Amino acid sequence: MSLSLLVYKSTITDQLDKDRVQEMSLVFKHRNRQRNITGLLLFDGEHFLQVLEGSSQSIGSLYEDIKLDSRHKKLVTVLHEPIFKRTFSDWGLAFISIGKDNQIELPTNHNGTNQPQYLSELESVDENRAAMIIDAFAKGLWRESYSIPADKLNDSVNSGLQLSDQLNKPKKEYPVNFAFQPIVNPVSKLVTSAEALIRGPDNSSPFEVLSKYSGTELYEFDLESKKYALEIASDLGLPCRISLNLLPMSLIVNPDAVEVLVSKAKDLHIPNEQIIVEITEEEIITNQEAFLQAIMKLKTSGINVAIDDFGAGYAGLSLLTEFHPDKVKIDRKLIQSIHTNGPKQAIVRAIVNCCHSLGISVIAEGVEEIAEINWLLQEGITKFQGFYFAKPKLNSFPIINWS
Ligand code: C2E
Ligand code: MN
Ligand code: MN
Repeated sequence: MSLSLLVYKSTITDQLDKDRVQEMSLVFKHRNRQRNITGLLLFDGEHFLQVLEGSSQSIGSLYEDIKLDSRHKKLVTVLHEPIFKRTFSDWGLAFISIGKDNQIELPTNHNGTNQPQYLSELESVDENRAAMIIDAFAKGLWRESYSIPADKLNDSVNSGLQLSDQLNKPKKEYPVNFAFQPIVNPVSKLVTSAEALIRGPDNSSPFEVLSKYSGTELYEFDLESKKYALEIASDLGLPCRISLNLLPMSLIVNPDAVEVLVSKAKDLHIPNEQIIVEITEEEIITNQEAFLQAIMKLKTSGINVAIDDFGAGYAGLSLLTEFHPDKVKIDRKLIQSIHTNGPKQAIVRAIVNCCHSLGISVIAEGVEEIAEINWLLQEGITKFQGFYFAKPKLNSFPIINWS
């Protein structure tokens, strides 16, 4: 029989005191005993952390029930994986209360000690994942100190002009099309920038447009097309920053790439500081002189540099030791359903921590749900791009949903 370990976090819906929760834990204990599930329940007055062990099948079906249980709010899966043996078999479902001073009181097991006796000689407590997560929870991780309710978010942004009300529709046809998608700060209700996403004549995707070219032609087209991105932005009268996507090779194959951008911007009276160049994490070339030089040249001219799709490649945080971007855009795959996914939360927290320490501004990409936005706001992220606020709009600037 295969065994599974499940650790999840949730927040209580009603005001419950420790005694009431302890009572409830007896009901859970009975339910779990029937399914031969053992584990621990930690409670700090507001948040639960449950550690459950049992057959993979019974853990799976119990978790489906828990997900449907309306008493659980902000359910986060911290860990759900197969295990070799049970860790907390001694305790059935032990209830652990965490005091104001974050002190944990472990219940005594039937050996009369509170040292878990499950661990083999090879394993110490601090090498056991469940034990480490419990420790982290006790220290305050996985427990948010405040939350911004969705209606408050609405309140703070409900007055004021839509940026798009001020924009003119383009009257021209362009040889290359771009769809614009805003990056917004929903708290100050400001549009930070507009990203220009290349489109074919029939609104086809960047992939389709770029796949028509290969070799140096691709890099030349990639750079040349950006002149039109700037031109459309200028015709629209975009008062915010303009983000351009470029392949690193487009900066290397065209030795005067930065001059090309700067000279076009000058013609259009767009200040260099209004331009951002985005390069995806996956494509960043480390240890290459020509590439680093192009980046330095961009920065020297006042153009900002952003790492796009951060977290999707394998370079990771160490990339920031070599390459100093002005902005980091966290990949959509990490952002999706972040409010329910423990590993994603831990990773995004680390990225935010690191970027803020280095003075790099952080943007969350691909936000589609208010719950994702609220979680990210709590962690200190204020800049967002995603379908929740606006979808990209062809050769124009979309209306933003601030609600
Ligand atoms: P990207 O730079 O990460 O751009 C964001 C992509 O995510 C866009 O797809 C956008 O439509 C999509 N997106 C934004 N918000 C959401 C959301 O909430 N949910 C979902 N499901 N998707 C969202 P798009 O326009 O298809 O662009 C794909 C990629 O193509 C871009 O990813 C960028 O890497 C590349 N690209 C776009 N334009 C250019 C260009 O001019 N040159 C080069 N080299 N690459 C480009
Ligand atoms: Mn991009
Ligand atoms: Mn991206």
